[in-house]
Amino acid sequence: MYSLVLFYGCYFISSKFFIQTVCRANTDKKEIALSFDDGPAQNYTPQVLQVLKTYNVQAAFFCIGKHIEANKDLLKQVYDEGHIIGNHSYTHDTWFDLFSSAKMSAELAATDNIIKNITGRKPVFFRPPYGVINPNVKKAIINGNYIPLGWSMRSYDTMIRDEKKLLKRITRSVKPGDIFLFHDTCKITLNILPIFIQGLRQKGFRIVRLDKLLQINAYE
Ligand SMILES: [Zn+2]
Repeated sequence: MYSLVLFYGCYFISSKFFIQTVCRANTDKKEIALSFDDGPAQNYTPQVLQVLKTYNVQAAFFCIGKHIEANKDLLKQVYDEGHIIGNHSYTHDTWFDLFSSAKMSAELAATDNIIKNITGRKPVFFRPPYGVINPNVKKAIINGNYIPLGWSMRSYDTMIRDEKKLLKRITRSVKPGDIFLFHDTCKITLNILPIFIQGLRQKGFRIVRLDKLLQINAYE
């Protein structure tokens, strides 16, 4: 599947191991994709969905298994409203990167299973917790036949407190093929989303769903 798709070289660095991770699309069309990590969550996934619906935007949601377990209807809503679901581990544990590859694989499989139970589909896209790919994560990725997804534009929405600062950061250098990383667990993200979407469109950018931007199927 990799060989069919052209990507800019983009790597997560982990001491001496590298794995090719998809961080952007190789396009000169003014198209970008939005991704939201760490949900589904009562705050603020439903509100983010409402904004996306209002502006007719489809996005990718990288969901945490244990959060899906607690919010099954919400995951179904995300899926039913035309967004795609990716795997973002089961626990998003602080020490995830220290787990054995077998334990990581078990987490990813558990998350796939819940997603499959709710949507009937098994995700292909996996975004590692904290964006780290070490040798064990790499093994788990290969073992589960995932396509590892990164980003080209990290919003830092979990850290930046000032809306204007955040907006400036994410809009000043948008490039064709960019993949934006947000969190649907952050109020600031919800607050800036309408202005951000309108701003992108004013600059002539189209927001397309991640799988369409990359021309890769999101599910097996
Ligand atoms: Zn995360």
